[in-house]
Amino acid sequence: MHVLVVEDDPALAVFVQKGLLLEGYDADRCGDGETALELAAEHPPDLVVLDLGLPRRDGAEVLEALRRDWPGSLILVLSGRGDVQQRIRCLDLGADDYLVKPFSFHELTARCRALLRRRERHADPMLRCGGILLNRMERTVSYQGVPLELTTKEFALLEFLMLRRGACCTRSELLQQVWQNSPEAGANVVDVYITYLRKKLSAAHQEGGLWSSPIETVRGLGYRLRDLHRLPRAEGSVREPAGESASLTNHPGGEDSEAGRLETRAADPREAGAECHG
Ligand code: CA
Repeated sequence: MHVLVVEDDPALAVFVQKGLLLEGYDADRCGDGETALELAAEHPPDLVVLDLGLPRRDGAEVLEALRRDWPGSLILVLSGRGDVQQRIRCLDLGADDYLVKPFSFHELTARCRALLRRRERHADPMLRCGGILLNRMERTVSYQGVPLELTTKEFALLEFLMLRRGACCTRSELLQQVWQNSPEAGANVVDVYITYLRKKLSAAHQEGGLWSSPIETVRGLGYRLRDLHRLPRAEGSVREPAGESASLTNHPGGEDSEAGRLETRAADPREAGAECHG
């Protein structure tokens, strides 16, 4: 599971990333909104842990863009802004969960697990891209309607390329994800298996002549599965809440004032009544 941590407090970002890595997630981090969207385009995350007060691009804008361009990514907002209006706004913009700083790291990881479990339960086992249909449950693949017989490694390689469709997968990344950096895997194992996959796709293609492989070589880097079906960008704007009650916005500290403190804090009674955990 790939998690992207977007947090402009460097100490907190490193802390969260390290913790998620220890939990077994493949975690990246960045400190501003613009970079977050660039990283998401390169490697669409399964889950984004998103701060709201960010340089270069506001967290709410990032949330809206993520939801529009990567509808399959889960988004957990992690913010010092704990007022009800802000939470409602983020949930309406498409956040899947909202956690207020300071927070317990155990609660953060529990929420990550819950979100990912929920997604697994509702996940469509079918991956589709460029005429390829891959069923993750039944472990079957077809291309242009023709069933393919793939080995376990070929299947895992194609599955990873399909999960990252449209993005470049580097050789080292493929070695890590598909071969778990096994010392038995030769230096050119990725290229060899890409050749196997292309041959099988080519053999399944009935038209002939104008065939070009849906697996593109990205010179000097790796491979990319062509994604011909990216969703077009929709018009969108960040809406301001109609109005905020002073009593709801009057929480101690700003966005970052308590960001580095990770201990559990007793909930503000004003918020406790409005929160709905789980
Ligand atoms: Ca911040």
